Amino acid sequence: GKGLAVFTSGGDSQGMNAAVRSVVRMGIYLGAKVYFIREGYQGMVDGGDNIEEANWSSVSSIIHKGGTIIGSARCMDFKQREGRLKAAFNLISRGITNLVVIGGDGSLTGANLFRQEWSSLLDELLKTNKITKDQREKYKYLHIAGMVGSIDNDFCGTDMTIGTDSALHRIIEAIDAIVSTAYSHQRTFIMEVMGRHCGYLALVAALASEADAVFIPEDPVPYNWVEKLCKRLHQERKSGQRLNIIIVAEGAIDREGKPITAELVKKVVVDNLQQDTRITVLGHVQRGGSPSAFDRILGCRMGAEAVMALMEATPETEPCVVSLDGNQAVRLPLMECVRRTKAVSQAMADKNWDLAVQLRGRS
Ligand code: ADP
Repeated sequence: GKGLAVFTSGGDSQGMNAAVRSVVRMGIYLGAKVYFIREGYQGMVDGGDNIEEANWSSVSSIIHKGGTIIGSARCMDFKQREGRLKAAFNLISRGITNLVVIGGDGSLTGANLFRQEWSSLLDELLKTNKITKDQREKYKYLHIAGMVGSIDNDFCGTDMTIGTDSALHRIIEAIDAIVSTAYSHQRTFIMEVMGRHCGYLALVAALASEADAVFIPEDPVPYNWVEKLCKRLHQERKSGQRLNIIIVAEGAIDREGKPITAELVKKVVVDNLQQDTRITVLGHVQRGGSPSAFDRILGCRMGAEAVMALMEATPETEPCVVSLDGNQAVRLPLMECVRRTKAVSQAMADKNWDLAVQLRGRS
């Protein structure tokens, strides 16, 4: 059977284990020899025990676990050709020419580069007698299928990334808990949630929790935001509300691009309204805990689709990323989605927020 390896790379997210499980089982089911690569690209470069054959039961009882059981890492070595040469050797030694990468846009970019270089890496390995002529011929094509694991929902082309729904559950649980204490003491709470370039978590959490205000990177506040916020909070209290909730995304900014931090919002509320105001920074709690049913199923469906894409690949097949489109797992050209995702970051850096929102599309 075909040699296929799965690895998780970059930041972890809930649901990655479901994806790994699905890749392993679908791969075995379709007759592939499936391997785990531990610690992302680092394990691929280092080889040895980091690359281990998986069997049906090695992915039992992991679907409910958060994070990734095969480890994830950032790897400087893989950014150098020297590192990628070692990685290519480690894969060929095991007959692996199919990769499923679960990570963010950085990880997918690395995979695409690896594929572009594959032929020249193999030539170099042959020239230095690391591989034989037969191996050079047998393993001449590398195939890649990606999936996006990210709690931020910050990738173009997919309606949801693996982990976003679970992170929202964590945030909503936290807000619900805060609301009861805020109510008792008539407090205002400012919740900082993750999302450096993408306000999806903040926006959806605000809608789902009846927050009074939300600050996100894609919609920088106008010059008179202080006045508008204070008026709103004041009105809410006057009409009988005992508390206020304000959600701030990490990357929230004003029209000049200056950060709107939880501290700044707190100062505004305290100075203008003298409300008893507290800040809660959710931080890594958002990445933790068990994956939601949605993320488990999303990981399962995407993992199965990724394996099918690899099994059906021909020499001409370009790397794909498996995306959610409506309620369907579909294959999209990997680099086109990465390029669009990077264009969004660029548009935000250029303060062209309308373009950023337009480029991001449905997600
Ligand atoms: P994410 O995948 O979550 O965006 P990173 O950007 O940190 O996270 O990428 C994860 C890893 O992918 C990096 O540590 C590196 O090993 C690899 N990688 C990222 N960008 C590249 C690149 N341009 N070339 C080669 N490898 C890359």
